[in-house]
Amino acid sequence: MLTRHRIGIVGAGTAGLATAIAFARAGHAVDVFEKHPSLATLGAGVLIQPQGVAALWPAAQPVVERIHAHEQLAFASYHHARPARLAAGPVCIVGDAAHAMSPQLGLGTTLAVQDALALAACVQAAGPVEGLARYSKSRLRTVRACRP
Ligand SMILES: Cc1cc2nc3c(=O)[nH]c(=O)nc-3n(C[C@H](O)[C@H](O)[C@H](O)COP(=O)(O)OP(=O)(O)OC[C@H]3O[C@@H](n4cnc5c(N)ncnc54)[C@H](O)[C@@H]3O)c2cc1C
Repeated sequence: MLTRHRIGIVGAGTAGLATAIAFARAGHAVDVFEKHPSLATLGAGVLIQPQGVAALWPAAQPVVERIHAHEQLAFASYHHARPARLAAGPVCIVGDAAHAMSPQLGLGTTLAVQDALALAACVQAAGPVEGLARYSKSRLRTVRACRP
């Protein structure tokens, strides 16, 4: 028989919403707390190679063709978060909070959704505390493989 848990999620980004959906589908009660007053789309840079730009967005090609030297570009710097564990008791972290990494890898969204599904499956199998410990161990293995 399903034990129905009450689950609080902080942050309505990809990871928070995917986690909310995964737990709600499994029959649990979910509350999501987001600091922004409303949800909206956000513009962000996504890396596409010049050939891709030419195919997908021909109007941008003249801008790409004007780039000839590194000095014309701005370098971004990133800090990789490396937590030793992703859970403590009945609390855990998912998504960028657990494993923020360079956007150029194009991996954050996928990892966030994987976190959500793994977390819900672990809690389903082993309850809130042991399930979170299992989630932490299994996801750290994956994250370290993606970003040593
Ligand atoms: C410029 C850029 C380009 C990217 N390009 C790609 C890409 O091409 N492909 C890809 O897979 N990934 C990309 N990423 C990474 C991807 O956006 C993240 O990995 C993903 O959004 C992580 O989801 P998240 O839910 O963990 O975090 P977020 O999306 O950051 O969501 C966190 C949410 O928590 C809320 N919050 C924070 N603190 C609190 C608080 N105290 N109380 C309540 N709410 C709070 C925030 O307002 C936010 O809504 C890119 C990132 C950037 C910055």
